[in-house]
Amino acid sequence: MTLGEALVAARRKIDRLDARLLLECASGCTHADLLARPETPLAAPAAAQFLDWVERRANGEPLAYIVGEAAFRGRLFQVSPAVLVPRPETELLVDLALARLRTREPARVLDLGTGSGIVAVSLALECPTAEVLAVDLSPAALAVARNNAGRLGAAVRCVDSDWYAALNGERFDLIVANPPYIAAGDPHLAGDGLPCEPQMALTDGADGLSCIRAIVAGAAAHLTGGGWLLFEHGYDQGAASRNLLTAAGFQDAFTQPDLAGNDRVSGGHL
Ligand code: GLN
Repeated sequence: MTLGEALVAARRKIDRLDARLLLECASGCTHADLLARPETPLAAPAAAQFLDWVERRANGEPLAYIVGEAAFRGRLFQVSPAVLVPRPETELLVDLALARLRTREPARVLDLGTGSGIVAVSLALECPTAEVLAVDLSPAALAVARNNAGRLGAAVRCVDSDWYAALNGERFDLIVANPPYIAAGDPHLAGDGLPCEPQMALTDGADGLSCIRAIVAGAAAHLTGGGWLLFEHGYDQGAASRNLLTAAGFQDAFTQPDLAGNDRVSGGHL
C-alpha cells in the first residue's frame, strides 16, 4: 500500500484532516511528503498501525487519545483518557488570566481541576514570575499534569485536592478553573469523542452549575484582597455565572465570548 492509497482508504471512514494526521504519525512522513510523493510505499507495520488507528477513530475515539498528545497554544501536551482533550476555546481563559497577571507580578495562581494541566502549564510558561499550583481530584489526571509540566519545563506544583479541600487556608491572587459544566443528559455528551472522555470532567451530573457554585462559594476564602476568579462555562451559563459572582461579593462580574461568539469565560474580583 502507498501513502496515497492509505489516505484514500481512510477518508472513506474518517475526517480527512484526522486521516492525514494519523498517517503522518504512523508513517513518520510530513504533510509535504504526502503531497509530493504519494506513491511512496508504506511499510507493513506502519500500514497495520495506521489501519488500526483509523478503525479506532471511526469508532469515536478522539484523535488525541489515539496519538497520545494534543496541541494547546502551540505546545504539545500528553493526553490520556484520564483527562479531557484540550479545546481551543480554553485559550480564552488563559488569555484573560494573563491579562490580570500582567498587572500583579509576582502572583500566586491556583488552577482548580487542572486535568492535563494545559491552563496551569501555559500560565507558568507565559508568566514566569507566577507561582502556580494545580489541583485535581483525580490522581490519574494529576500524573498527566505533572508529566506535562515536567516535559515542558513549567514550574507547576500539583496537589491532589477536591476543589479547595486540601488547601488549608492558602491564598492566591488569581484562581482559574475549567470545571465540568455540561448538564446531566445534555445531548452534547453523546457527541463525537465525548463518550470516551472522563465524564467527571465534563458533567457535574446535575444542572451544569453545581461545580461553578462550589468554586465561586469557596473562592473568597482563598483569594487575596482584589484577587480575581476566572472560570470557563457553557454558552448559556454567562448570566447565571455573573449572578453567582455578584451574590458572593465579587465586583465587576463580566462574561466574555470565545472566538466562536459563545459566552465562555466569566469572572470578577474581590
Ligand atoms: N467545552 C467542552 C465541550 O463542550 C466541555 C468542557 C468542560 O466541561 N469543562 O465539550
